Amino acid sequence: MDEAHIQAIVDAVLARIGEVPETPLAAVTKPPPGYTAPAAPTASAAPARRRDADIPRGRRGVFPDVESAVRAARAATEANAASPLEPRKRWVAAMRGTARAHVTELCRFAVEETGYGRADDKLKKNTLVIDKTPGPEWLEPIAFSGDDGLTLVERASYGVIGSITPTTNPTETVINNGIGMVSGGNAVVFNAHPYAARTSAYLVHLLNEAITGAGGPENLVSCVERPTIESAEALMRHAGVRLVVVTGGPGVVKAAMGSGKKVIAAGPGNPPAVVDETADLDVAAEGIVLGASIDNNIICTAEKEVIAVASIADALTERLARAGCLLVDDRKLRALEKLVLEQGSGGVHPNKDFIGKNAGVIARQLGVTAGDELRLLVADVDEKHPFVQLEMLMPVLPLVRAPDATEAIAMAKRVEHGFGHTAVMYSRNIAHLHAMARTINTSIFVKNACNLAGLGYGGEGYTSFTIASPTGEGLTTVRNFTRERRCTLKEYFRIV
Ligand code: NAD
Repeated sequence: MDEAHIQAIVDAVLARIGEVPETPLAAVTKPPPGYTAPAAPTASAAPARRRDADIPRGRRGVFPDVESAVRAARAATEANAASPLEPRKRWVAAMRGTARAHVTELCRFAVEETGYGRADDKLKKNTLVIDKTPGPEWLEPIAFSGDDGLTLVERASYGVIGSITPTTNPTETVINNGIGMVSGGNAVVFNAHPYAARTSAYLVHLLNEAITGAGGPENLVSCVERPTIESAEALMRHAGVRLVVVTGGPGVVKAAMGSGKKVIAAGPGNPPAVVDETADLDVAAEGIVLGASIDNNIICTAEKEVIAVASIADALTERLARAGCLLVDDRKLRALEKLVLEQGSGGVHPNKDFIGKNAGVIARQLGVTAGDELRLLVADVDEKHPFVQLEMLMPVLPLVRAPDATEAIAMAKRVEHGFGHTAVMYSRNIAHLHAMARTINTSIFVKNACNLAGLGYGGEGYTSFTIASPTGEGLTTVRNFTRERRCTLKEYFRIV
């Protein structure tokens, strides 16, 4: 691609999303300590995904096709549903134990196979799901007792669940959904993203070893060895699958909705972080860097844009630089747009070569001398910019200025695109926080901390990596993977 062709793409991008800004995008020129001035962009590509990663082959629970996986899962779910609760608790404890024992290698494999994220950050995410995914203890019965007798409501299994998992949290989603689904008395067949197939199959193998080692049935957790979009479709439509749970972007959500099954759909997000004039800016900067940079911004809940009230925007930007972010000036911004945006048939989209890559990889392409310790690039842009409008899934964080908190909240609502996923606000004005909470209407809203607090990392509560905004379950748990059953007893069973 020559220079003129690239410029044409960028112009088309900006024209499609909105008007090309008349004035240069706000200049943020002070480089953070330790970084030299940028040279011209280089032509070399970002490192490619390593598909030949040295990942052990998963065998147990790993099937050549959907048909055989669902058949095996059917037998396993009957054993699970018939089991008393105490053994099931042991199986789930064993799943947590094996995931914990292998977590370091699983994180490494996930990075090597997908080419996304950072192993150290994946360690935090995986440890979170191992420790804070709710188990069978959440299946509490409800009783109604009165003159007409007793009614008992309990939670029963669905049977076989088909779970489609993303490339961005491959092991986290298998551990998180696996624990929740087995806890509910089900068996689950996973169809992983093709780019995470080997790591997912190895994890499924380990989970089978753990469950059977604790006396449980084989194949409570299973997967298709070479998953594709076609095998995902086949799983979603298979007559033996009672519940479809999908975790991914808009394509898979749409496909699941057409499956004719009960669907729990966890879709995309574009989480804004609003910082108003009353915020503690040190807290805000620290939270933004952690939340937007963890695993190179591929988490669906991660801050995808900052909207700062203009009066504190410079002060916030200075703190982001002090926290180690690379501030992108005008010249670098143009080069960055050319690097990380592409014009495809459906419009502009992030360049896949840079999704989930380290900030240092991107910075070096801009001619900046930066190591892999660099966490984040910050670009001062306007609302219409593609970095704001698109779910970029890379450590490039746009910052937009708003005249006041009211407009900042309105802008946050617009750029979240109605996904209803996640939002963050830093403020010490309770009226502003209240207005944002009501307006943004997301499954997760975090006040004065980063998105991770809403996942239970540095915040109270359980965790989930299947956050079902389109279908309304929010952070899914074992309860969502069970169906309600009622038994009404007319006489003799009351004790008062
Ligand atoms: P993706 O949509 O490309 O793939 C997700 C899964 O769906 C993969 O297994 C893929 O093979 C499958 N798939 C994709 N299109 C399909 C189709 N048309 N029919 C059948 N199956 C299909 O997403 P990804 O790149 O793996 O993950 C990133 C996306 O997922 C982001 O949009 C992110 O926000 C979203 N995500 C959401 C959550 C959540 O909890 N809401 C969690 C993780 C990721």
